[in-house]
Amino acid sequence: MNEDSIKDYIKGIPDFPTEGISFKDISPLLADKDMFQKAVEEMGNLLPKLPDYWIGIESRGFLFSSALAYKFGGGVVMCRKAGKLPPPTVNYSYETEYSKDELSIKAGRGDLVIVDDVLATGGTLQATNHLCDTAGYTVQDNLVLIDLLYVQRIPRFHLNVRSLIQYESAS
Ligand code: AMP
Repeated sequence: MNEDSIKDYIKGIPDFPTEGISFKDISPLLADKDMFQKAVEEMGNLLPKLPDYWIGIESRGFLFSSALAYKFGGGVVMCRKAGKLPPPTVNYSYETEYSKDELSIKAGRGDLVIVDDVLATGGTLQATNHLCDTAGYTVQDNLVLIDLLYVQRIPRFHLNVRSLIQYESAS
């Protein structure tokens, strides 16, 4: 295992997908077998308690929720863009740093940790928390690889989110 930092494997792409957004490209991290494994292990180790389920947010959240379930045990629940899961589903509309989306999940029971790659405005995570509550789950924790601390959170954002990597500014 080399001693590179995980941050060295995340590339900032200016003005993508729209002007003013610094997109965090995690492709180099995913492609490196040692660093991806290290990131997944360190993310899981941030949690005081392991859940029954890992809920990944489509689509990059799936990569981490699946890997965390494989490494730490527990099932996977999908949180998908609306129209992808067959009915019945619970749906919710929300805004991200650069788009408007609608998420959907299947109803269920148990403790879960919600997982995504990037936390920006928090709209996605807050919507997913709302969905999971409505669908019958108990949200135990929120876990992301990257927290963009410089992005203005949505009004009334109230979640306590665990993150492996933080960025204080876009550059
Ligand atoms: P938000 O709801 O604003 O917190 O946005 C989080 C979602 O949008 C995550 O699922 C990310 O994959 C994606 N996202 C938002 N901003 C960025 C960014 N600067 N770089 C990469 N992905 C982002």
